[in-house]
Amino acid sequence: MSQETDTRARAAEKLPELDGILAVRRTVEGAAPYLFRPGDDLTGLVLEPRYPLASIVALLQRRHPEARLGVVARGCDVRALVEMAKRHQVDPDRLYLLGVACTSEEAEECYCPDPAPRLEGWPEGELLGERVPGAGPHPLVARYDEMALEERREFWQEQFRKCIKCYGCRNICPECFCEACALENPLWVEPGMLAPPFPTFHLIRAMHMANRCVGCRQCELTCPAHIPLTVLYDLIRQDVAQLLDYEPGADLEAPPPLSLTLTDAPLRGEHH
Ligand code: SF4
Ligand code: SF4
Ligand code: SF4
Repeated sequence: MSQETDTRARAAEKLPELDGILAVRRTVEGAAPYLFRPGDDLTGLVLEPRYPLASIVALLQRRHPEARLGVVARGCDVRALVEMAKRHQVDPDRLYLLGVACTSEEAEECYCPDPAPRLEGWPEGELLGERVPGAGPHPLVARYDEMALEERREFWQEQFRKCIKCYGCRNICPECFCEACALENPLWVEPGMLAPPFPTFHLIRAMHMANRCVGCRQCELTCPAHIPLTVLYDLIRQDVAQLLDYEPGADLEAPPPLSLTLTDAPLRGEHH
């Protein structure tokens, strides 16, 4: 059985126990996220193209606070959900994970170190498919490590000059959910100016992603200027791992080291 057929079969078995399963569905135009409801025909459920579903889970859970949903999730979706859960964007207790393991080819394509969903710690879920080893990093990450300081600056200047400030990278990112975004604050980012100020615009987002970025690659895939954004985020992820011993998305119970804890809004698992 192909992984897609297998996933449809498991989703069909699970659906009657839930209020719906979020997945990607084939449409006349291509494919789009869809909430399958009990009784729906699941033949349209597809695994390709990949589509980030974590932000849609958050939206659905906010709209339907009583619903028990399922989601067909790749490894990066699960990592994103884990970080979102820590910041109360999603509720793990109301979400069943049908975790789909990516293939080695997909891992190579994404330079993904962790192509299978990690379900330990999540209240309910199952793994579909075989866990394969992760792929090596983007070759630009290694090249960047060898660059001198001035070369690095030139590299990013060259890349960010192409930015048209479309906000696509921010909008697609499952970890960008602040109500007031610093990138829309004229104090930080002057409106109407292109390319956005170097390096402020991209550094603000990168700093906000430290200890949050789960390496889903969606920002880079979305960028119309083809800026290798994940090189920047991979470098930050490396630093966070080395300096703070933290891997975003790996463990639901691990507190994010750089997140500010407010007395009236504790992170998941913190009590005051
Ligand atoms: S980033 Fe990793 S988990 Fe996500 S789709 Fe690519 S290979 Fe799969
Ligand atoms: S890879 Fe990009 S889109 Fe994905 S979590 Fe990191 S910054 Fe956000
Ligand atoms: S998606 Fe690309 S062009 Fe658009 S704001 Fe982000 S970096 Fe700039």
